[in-house]
Amino acid sequence: MTEALIEPIIGLEVHVQLATRSKMWCGCAVEFGAPPNSRVCPVCLGLPGALPVMNRQAVEYAILTGLALNCSISRVSRWDRKSYTYPDLPKNYQISQYDLPLCVGGYIELKSDHRILKVRIRRAHLEEDAGKNVHDLGPFTAVDLNRAGTPLLEIVTEPDFSSADQVRQFAVELQRLVRYLGVSEANMQKGQMRFEPNINLRIRTPAQVVCTPIVEVKNLNSFRALHGAVSYELKRQREAWRTSGVTAATGNKTNRGWDDDRQVTVPQREKEEAYDYRYFPDPDLVPLTTSAEHVEYRRGQLPELPIPRTERFISEYKLPPRDAPALVDCRMTADLLDAAAEAGGHKEILGKHFLGFWARFANERHTTIAGLGLTARRMAELANLVGDGKISTTAARQIAHAMVQRVDELLASRPAATPRPAPGHCDTLRDPVDSPDLDPVRLAEKLRLLQSSDVGEIQHWVDRVFAAHPQAVRDARRNPKKRKPARGFLLGQVMKTSGGKADPKIAGRLIDEKLHADE
Ligand code: ZN
Ligand code: MN
Repeated sequence: MTEALIEPIIGLEVHVQLATRSKMWCGCAVEFGAPPNSRVCPVCLGLPGALPVMNRQAVEYAILTGLALNCSISRVSRWDRKSYTYPDLPKNYQISQYDLPLCVGGYIELKSDHRILKVRIRRAHLEEDAGKNVHDLGPFTAVDLNRAGTPLLEIVTEPDFSSADQVRQFAVELQRLVRYLGVSEANMQKGQMRFEPNINLRIRTPAQVVCTPIVEVKNLNSFRALHGAVSYELKRQREAWRTSGVTAATGNKTNRGWDDDRQVTVPQREKEEAYDYRYFPDPDLVPLTTSAEHVEYRRGQLPELPIPRTERFISEYKLPPRDAPALVDCRMTADLLDAAAEAGGHKEILGKHFLGFWARFANERHTTIAGLGLTARRMAELANLVGDGKISTTAARQIAHAMVQRVDELLASRPAATPRPAPGHCDTLRDPVDSPDLDPVRLAEKLRLLQSSDVGEIQHWVDRVFAAHPQAVRDARRNPKKRKPARGFLLGQVMKTSGGKADPKIAGRLIDEKLHADE
């Protein structure tokens, strides 16, 4: 075999279920887990004479997502019928958008191996979901039409990926994005986000450049399955080309499915060419028009998006790049951190507190930091006590704990505090509460945690520690190898002896003076 340069070419289609209360073309509720066929009406059952009425909210969500993906929003787009003859969509067609989709020509930029990977978005269009065929009821196949007519946004990228890692990274970012916008829960266990990558290889040999036949892997509903299917398919196509030499030609694009148990792709029915779907404009629906003013109004409503916000958090709050995404994921928590900084809180310390004890207290309560119910101002005040050297970091944790417990009490005695759903990755939140006894300064006094900058008092603690740990004192004075750790140990002991109250800067200075003075 001559040496060949093999280049993967991968594009992705994603179906995202929009978080509307009702279906795309009727008033039936969109509800996961309702009794079978309990959320249906003549429209979504496809009964003769029933007419669709467009769900405005679905269109607004699609516009918002399109803008976040840097797409142009079409002034006029159209609804088309796509032939579909399976029992889970009883109209025998799906209402979709064919040649005039709502969103076109966008992109999203990912950081990949310290390079920017620009993934172009070909289009994003609205359509409706099918119901579910149920095959595990004995000799029959049953159909549940609750999901039929649920609004979906289909997002199609250009074939800009060259590895399974890149595809997964894009999928993760897309999930963050739609959650951030509040347009979808994007819960993959509930099938609210489904992936269909199309994959082939471009192979350059000294003699020629050829491509392997394109394979589309259908209906992947986890990041793991997506990554697994793409990796497997790249390997399989390389082998298939080596043994058979078959290259891409009209009509040899195929569909495959993913066998999760065996971690392989398996052949499926042949891919219909577009004309097989017999798309034609839906005569029951007028074209969808969108004014430039309205699009600009929506653009104004876009929040700061997760990718740029993560970058800003890393530089502004000095967050470790690995940890920053976790803080950004919940939009309400990220907003709270910004609000605390705006309230005058010390940024770097706020960042440490958010990644540290606030996150831990939130986890313990199965909520997010925003769900703890504290105000931004109180969090800022606590950070500034540390920043001003009035309390130690350990003391801040103790005060924070007292604050959170007090909020729990206040909320328990206030039945009016209603949990509410929030956009982004956030759990159900409660409104923040405040009261004078949540004042960190008061708590510091009450818990006797205010740091001492009284030199006499700190000197007393230093003397006690020197007397108690002569070996460490000898090491700090004479052993060049142990000097630094021994000094650190002595400082730690002073902090411990003082109950965290000694100002560490003053304590450090007094320790150094004593180490030199008595030498
Ligand atoms: Zn209905
Ligand atoms: Mn589709």
